[in-house]
Amino acid sequence: MKIATQSQAVTETGVQLEGVKKSFGAVDVIRGVNIRIDKGEFAVFIGPSGCGKSTLLRMIAGLEDTNSGEIRIGARDVTDEDPSKRGVAMVFQSYALYPHLTVFENMAFSLRLAREKKDVVRQKVEDAARILRLTDQLQLKPSQLSGGQRQRVAIGRAIVRAPEVFLFDEPLSNLDAELRVQMRLELARLHKALGATMIYVTHDQVEAMTLADKIFVLQGGHVQQSGNPLDLYENPSNRFVAGFIGSPAMNFFEGTVSGHREDAVTVTLRDQDDLDVTAGVSARPAIGSEVVVGIRPEHLVLTDGPGLRVAVDVAEELGGVSYQHGALEGGAAVVFQQDGIRHKMRGTVQTVAPETGRIYLFTSGGERLR
Ligand code: ADP
Ligand code: MG
Repeated sequence: MKIATQSQAVTETGVQLEGVKKSFGAVDVIRGVNIRIDKGEFAVFIGPSGCGKSTLLRMIAGLEDTNSGEIRIGARDVTDEDPSKRGVAMVFQSYALYPHLTVFENMAFSLRLAREKKDVVRQKVEDAARILRLTDQLQLKPSQLSGGQRQRVAIGRAIVRAPEVFLFDEPLSNLDAELRVQMRLELARLHKALGATMIYVTHDQVEAMTLADKIFVLQGGHVQQSGNPLDLYENPSNRFVAGFIGSPAMNFFEGTVSGHREDAVTVTLRDQDDLDVTAGVSARPAIGSEVVVGIRPEHLVLTDGPGLRVAVDVAEELGGVSYQHGALEGGAAVVFQQDGIRHKMRGTVQTVAPETGRIYLFTSGGERLR
């Protein structure tokens, strides 16, 4: 019999980390990270401040050494390679342009340092300027540019080097909100135009959701979960990821298991004990054990029947949608979403029930029960 050759999607490795660790003195910052990013993928590292995102990116760039484990770019082991030989280019939050040089000279700087021919330099800078729509600004000084244009020049300095991998460390966080949204779209277009592997660090989950092919959620020196943005949203593997992805964040309610059904578990909520919530899971946590119920704000809908009684004290009206914030009788915070405008719910008690099939269940330790 012929051995079946599975038709696999052939994906080349862009960047791979295996068992990577890093400590500063006695503090373990990166505690064994495994990551695979395919060639041409837009990967995002996200996590709370101080979780090690920048450290991990700098390790890939070669700006921090790696205590153990292996870093591969393409087929090469670059763990101990000099930063200049790794084929990466990094863009930082502070764009650090040379103020006395023109846009052209700023972008040409590294090429001239590498003694590239004059006409090659011109060609590369002009190509990058076209992609970044900076052609008309090439003879200006950084002080004559807007914040967004300066950040584009910083990206241009990376593009001219034609790196295998682009590394971005919160490149938009110095820009005002409007410009951030605009630059986010430009980065998405840039990624399409260049088709290069990109790794992007942010703590902004909207940036992560909108830019990433693959998100890596970091916390406590580990990758908590990785995957396609919507998979993480729909299928978080623990309470941390469930609470981190999605805005406003998922509601969490403590409770105890009150019953088992064929295909579900019922939970009595601590802060409203007349209510049993039914979570469709096949796990069988012991009756009486403590669990946490998770429900997203967009999955709580107004009801005339039994439900969560929420005393609404703050309404965030965004026009097309509003977020009603309040608390259960026992004190647990609740936020639920209402579509449309002018709900006038502030100061009232509203009853909301979770949509069926939209209830997540976690152990008190934060692991997802399925
Ligand atoms: P993030 O980018 O996710 O905010 P960082 O990677 O900058 O986090 O930092 C992770 C942790 O490592 C922090 O606790 C930080 O204080 C520590 N750290 C980072 N760089 C150094 C350093 N050079 N020396 C000592 N501690 C460091
Ligand atoms: Mg950082």
